[in-house]
Amino acid sequence: MALAYDDTNIFARILRGEIPCDTVAQNDHALAFRDINPQAPVHVLVIPKGKYVSFDDFAAHASDAEIAGFTRLCAEVCRAEGVGLEDGQGFRAITNAGPHGVQEVPHYHLHIMGGRMMGPMVS
Ligand code: 5GP
Repeated sequence: MALAYDDTNIFARILRGEIPCDTVAQNDHALAFRDINPQAPVHVLVIPKGKYVSFDDFAAHASDAEIAGFTRLCAEVCRAEGVGLEDGQGFRAITNAGPHGVQEVPHYHLHIMGGRMMGPMVS
């Protein structure tokens, strides 16, 4: 069963157009926009347009088309932002889930960060 989804979370409001965002790219299934508090020269959040709380919720319950659309948009962002390995120096893609993951916004999102050398993975 899918996790209970809170329709009032900030990314749900961005998807409904109630709050502006700096859009980088989108397709039928996912939206990419700049993090409001960037931790690197490139810091883009990619979110599914469907209502999924976390990575495990998305991976278990999204359709193949949603998963493909989301994943392809991530690759498009890496290319467009110049951090993909075809023509850039790489990136870090992370997702936080639940209390131990220190997830702030309960709508699944992938952070794509690049443009500088990253530090240690865990803190
Ligand atoms: P989490 O801790 O849930 O993985 O990360 C949530 C991210 O969302 C944070 O990096 C935070 O800066 C970003 N964020 C929170 N509110 C907003 C907002 O209203 N607009 C944008 N663009 N990013 C936000």
